[in-house]
Amino acid sequence: MAVGIEPNGAGIIGTIHPFTRKTTVESAIRWPDGYCAAVSLAFDVDGPSGDAMLDDSLPHNLRYFSEGSYGPYRAVPRLLDLLAQHDLTATFFVPTWVVEHWPGVCERMVAEGHEVGYHGHRHEVFFDLTLDEQQAVMEHSKAVFQRVLGVTPRGFRTPSGDWSSDTAALLRRFGVLYSSSMRGDDRPYFHPAVDGRHGLVELPARWDMDDYTALAYFADPAFPSGLDRISDYRVVSRNWIAEFEGYAREGLFWTTILHPKVSCKPGRLRILDELFGAIRAHDDVWVAHAGAVAQWWVDTHGQEASV
Ligand SMILES: [Zn+2]
Repeated sequence: MAVGIEPNGAGIIGTIHPFTRKTTVESAIRWPDGYCAAVSLAFDVDGPSGDAMLDDSLPHNLRYFSEGSYGPYRAVPRLLDLLAQHDLTATFFVPTWVVEHWPGVCERMVAEGHEVGYHGHRHEVFFDLTLDEQQAVMEHSKAVFQRVLGVTPRGFRTPSGDWSSDTAALLRRFGVLYSSSMRGDDRPYFHPAVDGRHGLVELPARWDMDDYTALAYFADPAFPSGLDRISDYRVVSRNWIAEFEGYAREGLFWTTILHPKVSCKPGRLRILDELFGAIRAHDDVWVAHAGAVAQWWVDTHGQEASV
């Protein structure tokens, strides 16, 4: 690994480490209103998008389709009910193919005060796309969000955990304020500045908080490879709460990569119920949409990152 380059989840291409560019604070973060840390709950509503859609096998792959569609059809409404019980709102990264096919549940997200963000149209692997192809995905996604939901997202999470070196600048041209795609830090930072203006804000997430690592298992093909069982739900609950509390203790920014089709099934909902309760018990932690955290980061540190 080259000095100053942080690996992303796929380990393919990196982004500049904030400390080497000195574009962000190097000491304790002073969060607004005296809060000691910040949290953005984030969910990726992939639905049946992904490989089977990209290779056009989806219409012939009904098992994959039904597994995926369980997310927007059954799991998201259950999650929205639970969030409302805890008086929490979240950020939902949604491929616009899902927005087109399940508009009702997406309209409910917006109506109940949640944030929606870009996540490709068909959950494309951005690293494999040319810049023109990435631009076409963004143009199409922007149009769908406007037409179906009447919103223009400010956030983006790359569907595949990677992108190409030009993606951050492309996203800025679409008015995107922040990304939550990289893995290399536990606090917000800026991607490189463009034309004398601060770059995209990165709100990094961690594989530790991706529910696939503990709760997903597919028999054919075996995925995640090497995993032979689903984790004990009580252990998952304790792990996730411990992660949150560690970030709170150190005054950092914490977010999640949770998928309703994975972690919002009836028995697993208790894990989230306990996690949400633990977050709510910390009235010293700022719980906000990812977009609000990114905007605050720009307001507070944008000037020093504009070079
Ligand atoms: Zn996804």
